[in-house]
Amino acid sequence: MSNPLSNNSRRQFVKNAAAGLSFLPLSSLLNAQTITTPPAGKKKIVCIGGHPDDPESGCGGTLAKLVHAGHDVTIIYLTTGEAGIDGKPHDEAAAIRKQEAINASKVLGAKPVFAGQIDGDTIMNNEWLGKLQQIIATEAPDLVFTHWPVDSHKDHQVASLLVIQTWIRSPQKFPLYFFEVCTGEQSLIFHPTDYVDISDTQEQKRQSVYCHVSQDPPGIYACGHAAMEEFRGRELGVKAAEGFVRMSGKMMGGNMM
Ligand SMILES: [Zn+2]
Repeated sequence: MSNPLSNNSRRQFVKNAAAGLSFLPLSSLLNAQTITTPPAGKKKIVCIGGHPDDPESGCGGTLAKLVHAGHDVTIIYLTTGEAGIDGKPHDEAAAIRKQEAINASKVLGAKPVFAGQIDGDTIMNNEWLGKLQQIIATEAPDLVFTHWPVDSHKDHQVASLLVIQTWIRSPQKFPLYFFEVCTGEQSLIFHPTDYVDISDTQEQKRQSVYCHVSQDPPGIYACGHAAMEEFRGRELGVKAAEGFVRMSGKMMGGNMM
Protein backbone atom coordinates (compact mmCIF):
# COMPACT_ATOMS: atom_id res chain seq x y z
CA MET A 1 0.00 0.00 0.00
CA SER A 2 1.23 3.46 -0.78
CA ASN A 3 2.13 5.84 1.98
CA PRO A 4 -0.96 7.94 2.85
CA LEU A 5 1.25 10.85 3.92
CA SER A 6 3.03 13.04 1.45
CA ASN A 7 6.55 14.12 2.24
CA ASN A 8 5.24 17.61 2.78
CA SER A 9 2.60 16.58 5.30
CA ARG A 10 5.09 14.35 7.08
CA ARG A 11 7.58 17.19 7.26
CA GLN A 12 4.85 19.47 8.58
CA PHE A 13 3.88 16.94 11.25
CA VAL A 14 7.47 16.55 12.39
CA LYS A 15 7.79 20.33 12.46
CA ASN A 16 4.62 20.70 14.50
CA ALA A 17 5.65 17.92 16.85
CA ALA A 18 9.04 19.51 17.35
CA ALA A 19 7.38 22.82 18.11
CA GLY A 20 5.11 21.10 20.63
CA LEU A 21 2.07 22.25 18.71
CA SER A 22 0.54 18.89 18.01
CA PHE A 23 0.57 17.39 21.45
CA LEU A 24 -1.69 18.10 24.36
CA PRO A 25 -0.52 16.04 27.35
CA LEU A 26 -3.22 14.06 29.11
CA SER A 27 -1.81 15.10 32.46
CA SER A 28 -2.44 18.77 31.68
CA LEU A 29 -6.16 18.08 31.26
CA LEU A 30 -6.45 16.45 34.65
CA ASN A 31 -5.17 19.44 36.55
CA ALA A 32 -8.35 21.42 37.16
CA GLN A 33 -6.24 24.50 37.89
CA THR A 34 -5.24 24.65 34.25
CA ILE A 35 -8.88 25.21 33.32
CA THR A 36 -8.99 28.79 34.37
CA THR A 37 -11.84 30.06 32.28
CA PRO A 38 -14.30 27.36 31.30
CA PRO A 39 -15.63 26.87 28.72
CA ALA A 40 -12.55 28.33 27.00
CA GLY A 41 -10.37 25.73 28.70
CA LYS A 42 -12.87 22.98 28.17
CA LYS A 43 -11.63 20.17 25.93
CA LYS A 44 -13.40 17.45 24.00
CA ILE A 45 -12.33 13.91 24.81
CA VAL A 46 -13.37 10.93 22.67
CA CYS A 47 -12.97 7.27 23.64
CA ILE A 48 -13.55 4.50 21.08
CA GLY A 49 -14.10 0.90 22.22
CA GLY A 50 -15.06 -2.33 20.47
CA HIS A 51 -17.99 -3.27 22.71
CA PRO A 52 -20.13 -1.81 25.46
CA ASP A 53 -18.03 -2.20 28.65
CA ASP A 54 -14.58 -1.81 26.99
CA PRO A 55 -14.18 1.97 27.42
CA GLU A 56 -15.53 1.74 30.96
CA SER A 57 -13.23 -1.10 32.03
CA GLY A 58 -10.21 0.19 30.09
CA CYS A 59 -10.25 3.84 31.12
CA GLY A 60 -13.48 4.58 33.03
CA GLY A 61 -11.59 6.02 35.97
CA THR A 62 -9.71 8.43 33.72
CA LEU A 63 -12.84 9.43 31.79
CA ALA A 64 -14.61 10.18 35.08
CA LYS A 65 -11.66 12.34 36.17
CA LEU A 66 -11.72 14.25 32.89
CA VAL A 67 -15.44 14.96 33.36
CA HIS A 68 -14.77 16.12 36.94
CA ALA A 69 -12.05 18.42 35.57
CA GLY A 70 -14.67 20.12 33.38
CA HIS A 71 -14.16 18.44 30.01
CA ASP A 72 -16.73 16.92 27.64
CA VAL A 73 -16.35 13.17 27.09
CA THR A 74 -17.93 11.16 24.26
CA ILE A 75 -17.76 7.36 24.19
CA ILE A 76 -18.04 5.75 20.76
CA TYR A 77 -19.00 2.07 20.84
CA LEU A 78 -17.95 0.45 17.55
CA THR A 79 -20.49 -2.37 18.02
CA THR A 80 -23.55 -2.68 20.21
CA GLY A 81 -22.41 -6.01 21.68
CA GLU A 82 -25.14 -7.95 19.88
CA ALA A 83 -23.26 -11.26 20.05
CA GLY A 84 -22.61 -10.93 23.75
CA ILE A 85 -25.65 -12.53 25.38
CA ASP A 86 -25.93 -16.31 25.06
CA GLY A 87 -29.28 -17.49 23.71
CA LYS A 88 -30.50 -14.02 22.69
CA PRO A 89 -30.91 -12.96 19.05
CA HIS A 90 -28.78 -10.05 17.92
CA ASP A 91 -31.54 -7.42 17.91
CA GLU A 92 -32.68 -8.30 21.42
CA ALA A 93 -29.12 -8.42 22.82
CA ALA A 94 -28.25 -5.12 21.10
CA ALA A 95 -31.25 -3.39 22.69
CA ILE A 96 -30.28 -4.63 26.16
CA ARG A 97 -26.61 -3.75 25.78
CA LYS A 98 -27.33 -0.35 24.25
CA GLN A 99 -29.35 0.59 27.31
CA GLU A 100 -26.60 -0.74 29.60
CA ALA A 101 -24.03 1.38 27.73
CA ILE A 102 -26.27 4.45 28.03
CA ASN A 103 -26.55 3.81 31.78
CA ALA A 104 -22.78 3.29 32.12
CA SER A 105 -21.99 6.47 30.19
CA LYS A 106 -24.38 8.40 32.41
CA VAL A 107 -22.52 7.20 35.53
CA LEU A 108 -19.29 8.57 34.03
CA GLY A 109 -20.92 11.78 32.77
CA ALA A 110 -20.15 10.90 29.15
CA LYS A 111 -22.19 11.02 25.93
CA PRO A 112 -22.64 7.61 24.22
CA VAL A 113 -22.48 7.21 20.43
CA PHE A 114 -23.06 3.90 18.62
CA ALA A 115 -21.13 3.45 15.37
CA GLY A 116 -23.20 0.49 14.14
CA GLN A 117 -20.73 -2.34 13.49
CA ILE A 118 -21.64 -5.91 14.46
CA ASP A 119 -20.13 -7.63 17.49
CA GLY A 120 -17.89 -10.51 16.43
CA ASP A 121 -18.00 -9.44 12.80
CA THR A 122 -16.20 -6.10 12.79
CA ILE A 123 -14.83 -4.77 9.53
CA MET A 124 -11.68 -2.86 8.69
CA ASN A 125 -12.11 -1.48 5.19
CA ASN A 126 -12.11 1.89 3.45
CA GLU A 127 -15.87 2.33 3.79
CA TRP A 128 -15.76 1.91 7.57
CA LEU A 129 -12.62 3.99 7.82
CA GLY A 130 -14.51 6.80 6.11
CA LYS A 131 -17.46 6.37 8.46
CA LEU A 132 -15.31 6.42 11.57
CA GLN A 133 -13.33 9.40 10.29
CA GLN A 134 -16.64 11.22 9.88
CA ILE A 135 -17.92 10.28 13.35
CA ILE A 136 -14.64 11.37 14.97
CA ALA A 137 -14.50 14.58 12.91
CA THR A 138 -18.04 15.43 14.04
CA GLU A 139 -16.87 15.19 17.66
CA ALA A 140 -13.79 17.35 16.90
CA PRO A 141 -11.70 15.76 19.68
CA ASP A 142 -8.82 17.41 21.48
CA LEU A 143 -7.69 14.01 22.74
CA VAL A 144 -8.63 10.41 21.85
CA PHE A 145 -8.45 7.06 23.64
CA THR A 146 -8.80 3.65 22.02
CA HIS A 147 -7.78 0.01 22.41
CA TRP A 148 -4.13 -1.03 22.29
CA PRO A 149 -3.88 -2.78 18.87
CA VAL A 150 -2.11 -5.95 20.01
CA ASP A 151 -5.13 -7.74 21.44
CA SER A 152 -6.48 -11.27 21.20
CA HIS A 153 -9.99 -9.98 20.38
CA LYS A 154 -10.39 -9.04 16.73
CA ASP A 155 -13.10 -6.44 17.46
CA HIS A 156 -10.69 -4.62 19.78
CA GLN A 157 -8.03 -4.71 17.07
CA VAL A 158 -10.43 -3.37 14.42
CA ALA A 159 -11.47 -0.50 16.68
CA SER A 160 -7.82 0.34 17.30
CA LEU A 161 -6.77 0.11 13.64
CA LEU A 162 -9.67 2.28 12.48
CA VAL A 163 -8.62 4.96 14.98
CA ILE A 164 -4.92 4.65 14.13
CA GLN A 165 -5.68 5.10 10.42
CA THR A 166 -7.98 8.03 11.21
CA TRP A 167 -5.13 9.58 13.19
CA ILE A 168 -2.61 8.98 10.38
CA ARG A 169 -4.94 10.60 7.83
CA SER A 170 -5.98 13.50 10.05
CA PRO A 171 -4.26 16.79 9.18
CA GLN A 172 -4.79 17.91 12.78
CA LYS A 173 -3.07 15.24 14.86
CA PHE A 174 -5.10 14.75 18.02
CA PRO A 175 -3.18 13.30 20.97
CA LEU A 176 -3.89 9.55 20.92
CA TYR A 177 -3.66 7.22 23.91
CA PHE A 178 -4.17 3.45 23.96
CA PHE A 179 -5.83 1.75 26.92
CA GLU A 180 -5.54 -1.88 28.02
CA VAL A 181 -8.26 -4.45 28.69
CA CYS A 182 -7.82 -7.82 30.41
CA THR A 183 -4.05 -7.56 29.98
CA GLY A 184 -2.37 -10.92 29.49
CA GLU A 185 -5.59 -12.39 28.11
CA GLN A 186 -6.72 -9.70 25.65
CA SER A 187 -4.24 -6.78 25.55
CA LEU A 188 -0.74 -8.18 25.01
CA ILE A 189 2.78 -6.74 25.35
CA PHE A 190 1.31 -3.57 26.83
CA HIS A 191 3.85 -1.34 28.57
CA PRO A 192 2.42 2.03 29.70
CA THR A 193 4.06 5.32 28.88
CA ASP A 194 1.55 7.31 30.95
CA TYR A 195 -0.46 6.72 34.12
CA VAL A 196 -3.52 8.32 35.66
CA ASP A 197 -4.20 8.03 39.39
CA ILE A 198 -7.82 6.84 39.62
CA SER A 199 -7.93 6.30 43.38
CA ASP A 200 -10.72 8.87 43.70
CA THR A 201 -12.78 7.63 40.73
CA GLN A 202 -12.19 3.88 41.12
CA GLU A 203 -15.62 3.41 42.71
CA GLN A 204 -17.36 5.48 40.01
CA LYS A 205 -15.62 3.34 37.38
CA ARG A 206 -16.79 0.18 39.14
CA GLN A 207 -20.37 1.48 39.18
CA SER A 208 -20.25 2.20 35.42
CA VAL A 209 -18.89 -1.30 34.68
CA TYR A 210 -21.60 -2.78 36.88
CA CYS A 211 -24.24 -1.16 34.62
CA HIS A 212 -23.38 -3.95 32.16
CA VAL A 213 -25.57 -6.39 34.03
CA SER A 214 -25.79 -8.83 31.09
CA GLN A 215 -22.00 -9.20 31.04
CA ASP A 216 -21.49 -10.56 34.56
CA PRO A 217 -19.73 -7.49 36.02
CA PRO A 218 -17.78 -9.50 38.63
CA GLY A 219 -16.60 -11.59 35.67
CA ILE A 220 -15.36 -8.44 33.90
CA TYR A 221 -13.31 -7.55 36.94
CA ALA A 222 -12.16 -11.16 37.26
CA CYS A 223 -10.61 -10.73 33.80
CA GLY A 224 -7.82 -8.93 35.62
CA HIS A 225 -9.18 -5.39 35.88
CA ALA A 226 -8.97 -5.17 39.67
CA ALA A 227 -5.43 -6.56 39.52
CA MET A 228 -4.54 -4.14 36.70
CA GLU A 229 -5.81 -1.12 38.65
CA GLU A 230 -3.82 -2.23 41.68
CA PHE A 231 -0.67 -3.08 39.72
CA ARG A 232 -0.68 0.16 37.71
CA GLY A 233 -1.29 1.90 41.05
CA ARG A 234 1.82 0.22 42.46
CA GLU A 235 3.84 1.37 39.47
CA LEU A 236 2.62 4.94 40.03
CA GLY A 237 2.80 4.77 43.83
CA VAL A 238 -0.93 5.27 44.45
CA LYS A 239 -3.87 3.05 45.42
CA ALA A 240 -5.22 2.57 41.88
CA ALA A 241 -4.24 3.74 38.41
CA GLU A 242 -4.88 3.21 34.72
CA GLY A 243 -2.00 2.84 32.29
CA PHE A 244 -1.80 4.16 28.73
CA VAL A 245 0.53 4.02 25.75
CA ARG A 246 0.87 7.38 24.02
CA MET A 247 1.17 7.58 20.24
CA SER A 248 4.26 9.64 19.61
CA GLY A 249 5.97 11.55 16.86
CA LYS A 250 8.92 9.22 17.19
CA MET A 251 6.64 6.27 16.46
CA MET A 252 5.25 8.18 13.48
CA GLY A 253 8.67 8.92 12.07
CA GLY A 254 10.21 5.56 12.87
CA ASN A 255 8.32 2.33 13.36
CA MET A 256 5.26 3.23 11.35
CA MET A 257 6.93 4.34 8.16
ZN1 LIG B 1 -14.58 -6.05 24.20
